[in-house]
Amino acid sequence: MTRSLYDLDPGQLEALVAEAGEPPYRARQLAHWLDRRRQPDPKAMTNLPRSLRARLSERFAGTGLTLDRHQAGDDGWTQKFLFRLPGGDAVESVLMLYKRGGLRPPRSPQDPMAEDDWEGGPRGRATVCISSQAGCAMGCTFCATGQFGFTRHLSVGEIVEQVAQVSTMLPELRPGPAAPDHLANVVFMGMGEPFANQEATWGAAYRLHQGFGLSARAITISTVGLVPGIRRAAAEPLPVNLAVSIHAATDELRDRLVPVNRTWPIAVLLAAVEEYVAATRRRVSFEYALMAGVNDDPEQARGLGRLLAPLRMPGGGGHAAHVNLIPYNPTPGTGFSPPSKGAVRRFRDNVAAAGVPVSVRANRGVGIDAACGQLRTAAGRPGRKALPLAELPEAGP
Ligand code: SAH
Ligand code: SF4
Repeated sequence: MTRSLYDLDPGQLEALVAEAGEPPYRARQLAHWLDRRRQPDPKAMTNLPRSLRARLSERFAGTGLTLDRHQAGDDGWTQKFLFRLPGGDAVESVLMLYKRGGLRPPRSPQDPMAEDDWEGGPRGRATVCISSQAGCAMGCTFCATGQFGFTRHLSVGEIVEQVAQVSTMLPELRPGPAAPDHLANVVFMGMGEPFANQEATWGAAYRLHQGFGLSARAITISTVGLVPGIRRAAAEPLPVNLAVSIHAATDELRDRLVPVNRTWPIAVLLAAVEEYVAATRRRVSFEYALMAGVNDDPEQARGLGRLLAPLRMPGGGGHAAHVNLIPYNPTPGTGFSPPSKGAVRRFRDNVAAAGVPVSVRANRGVGIDAACGQLRTAAGRPGRKALPLAELPEAGP
């Protein structure tokens, strides 16, 4: 079953066009609309004959993503989209806009010290955070998506089409003239675990690079730490960025926050990252969601520094790890909360004392539940109720 026009490769587009009795160059025009113009709607492909447009619309009716809900937060600098998938499930994508250097937009009161996170250099920056699965099976105890459970994998086309849909809407959604007008970065940090859906994740990454023309370095894949996925990333020729969600410096604590740690404990995970660095000569970011009274103590900070300081670029090129601290985005029902600004600062300083580069990430989209890990599509599937939140873990404050 074709779920999105973006699931079709060039050969399939040619066959489609031939079936309609059109010459082969129409397939190239169609591919140009889909990839270069990022236009998923056949009706808008104005240089195709009307009859072909109508035929494509009819043939692919009911496929692709349908925008169900759109919310703007941070004065329009963060926007969340709920897309309905064929079959009724839904996923969310988040657009984050970064202003051209100079004046910065108002910051949310939750931001302790992440000022730089708001600026996008001389041209500004637009990043889209996309989903790789509807829900997630990994069950991280602090994550809204994880608590919601797993519904299904997305296809290559469904992942890629999120980028196309958001790109197409971007020009009319800009909050002002200082906002960028084209999408430059894609992060796999929405719903789902990309390496639990590897084929589609890599298929999408290659399509975004080869078709959409995004540089590999503009694409970031975030994983909870699935070691086979990290090994594969080391072997893939496409040099995307890798982010690893670590969240704890001891197995005792990480087991409770991130259940897959019982399969790939910290030492095994870091050995895989070390091999990845050796093979790719690329730096890796480590995400650490800071939760008050759970993983924000100086012991964890110093432990994290000790774990990551030895991770070096081959040939004496300096540190290979960069830590991104994300003050926890409160999620109703989980019982976790962000630490005070002072605690965030102390944690950062303790990591930095080990020599490891560390920064604090701005909390985007808090007001519209579009911040990291807050995506859970309460809208769910027609007739399907959101699962109740799991029993609180002992790790809760
Ligand atoms: N499954 C992948 C990618 C999606 S989650 C992964 O876990 O890496 C993107 C990031 O948001 C992860 O680092 C995740 O741990 C983090 N996160 C989840 N819930 C959060 C919350 N409430 N506050 C802050 N970060 C959160
Ligand atoms: Fe899944 Fe990532 Fe959430 Fe864990 S943090 S449940 S892996 S989406």
